[in-house]
Amino acid sequence: MSMPTHNRIALRTALIYLIGAELWILLSDWLVWREAEVEHHFFVNTEVLKGSLFVLVTWVALYLVLRYQLRLRHKTEAQSAYQANILQYVSDAIFAVDLERHILTWNPGAERIYGWRADEVIGKPIREMLRPVYPDMTIEEISAVFQEKQTWIGELIQHHKDGRPLHIVANVSYLRDDTGKPIGMVTVNRDVSDQKRLEKEILEKEKLTVALETERRVQEIRTRFMRMISHEFRTPLTIINSSYDLLKSYNERMSPEQRMQKLDNIAEQVTHLRDLMGEVSLLLSTDPTMPNFAPTEFDLVPYCEDQITEIRRACDTHTLNLLLNCDSARINGDSKLLRHVVNNLIYNAIKYSPEGSPITVTLEADRTAVLRVKDLGIGIPDVDCARIFEPFYRATNVNDTPGSGLGLAIVKQIVDLHQGKIDVQSQVGVGTTFTVTLPLTTAA
Ligand code: ADP
Repeated sequence: MSMPTHNRIALRTALIYLIGAELWILLSDWLVWREAEVEHHFFVNTEVLKGSLFVLVTWVALYLVLRYQLRLRHKTEAQSAYQANILQYVSDAIFAVDLERHILTWNPGAERIYGWRADEVIGKPIREMLRPVYPDMTIEEISAVFQEKQTWIGELIQHHKDGRPLHIVANVSYLRDDTGKPIGMVTVNRDVSDQKRLEKEILEKEKLTVALETERRVQEIRTRFMRMISHEFRTPLTIINSSYDLLKSYNERMSPEQRMQKLDNIAEQVTHLRDLMGEVSLLLSTDPTMPNFAPTEFDLVPYCEDQITEIRRACDTHTLNLLLNCDSARINGDSKLLRHVVNNLIYNAIKYSPEGSPITVTLEADRTAVLRVKDLGIGIPDVDCARIFEPFYRATNVNDTPGSGLGLAIVKQIVDLHQGKIDVQSQVGVGTTFTVTLPLTTAA
């Protein structure tokens, strides 16, 4: 087993001492005896033995002390070398400045990040070398944080030797002497420019995707709108036109009943067109950006009772049931707008379910007011359920049933204005239930 270097050095030094001191004892003893000119024995001699013993003891002591000190020095040197190694290979920039912000140390990481060599920056003001810009805070705010916490971690822009801006995450702390007195600052800086660039690219890509999706949706709504216009407007206009032509050309030859029928046709189609225009303008007026939302506090129970009575009077093709599961359901809402919600859901239930089938409206009030409209009609295919609240969207199974696809878009906008929610549950051929949830003014 080989001996560690520091042990070898201690042993060698102590041996030199041992040999030197022993030779000195023997020489001085020989000189003394030579002068006395008597017979003399070098080694069987008390003085020499005493001296040798002393040298031996001090030799051992010297060896131990030397070994201890050399080991200590070796350890300190190894530690310094290790730390220097870390500073050498760490990818972050680590540098120290004095209290006047002049650069004291500059590691290879700093050379790599900023492009300046250590010999070019040591002793120079950090501000001039890196030209920092603080985008989020003023220098006074940073100083205040630094004074309070004795450290500052934050983002800033610094500049490369070639003038390029670098996004830096900095971690600054005080550099102190043995007594704890600040003598400067030490900074660990990480270059996050690539990461920032990547984040920006991802953000831009996301924005582009959203913009393209919005564009696609607008395009789709436009197409649906054109389809609705051509169908819902052209048919009534054709009827009006042909009725007018007939009346104009054959007025004399028509019976009063025939004439009346043509006039009724015209009136019916005009009403249809007026309703359609009403829906379009309602959709526009319930847009969240429109300021004509006028909420007041009222009770949904009598409100629903009145609405149902009115609808029952106007339409007797279905059995309309009202189940009130609460005594009152006070909400803060715009009663005029909410009328469209109740009417639209019930008239849709009527439109999309067979004559004579029951339609059940339920009102509950627990933590919120919950209004349900349930029918046993044609149902809505799963693929369409998520989209029926989009303007002009109609499910794929409506066949010839007339409609503009605007009603539910209006309903959704009104419910949104009231901070409410609307859901649909449906099964094709079984029926549909729409559930509107609205916040109550007080717990029922
Ligand atoms: P429309 O004028 O077409 O009825 P809406 O916006 O009121 O427009 O409804 C959008 C679509 O949702 C309808 O075209 C229909 O496909 C579907 N829908 C709405 N209510 C019902 C229901 N009660 N039963 C089946 N389908 C419905």
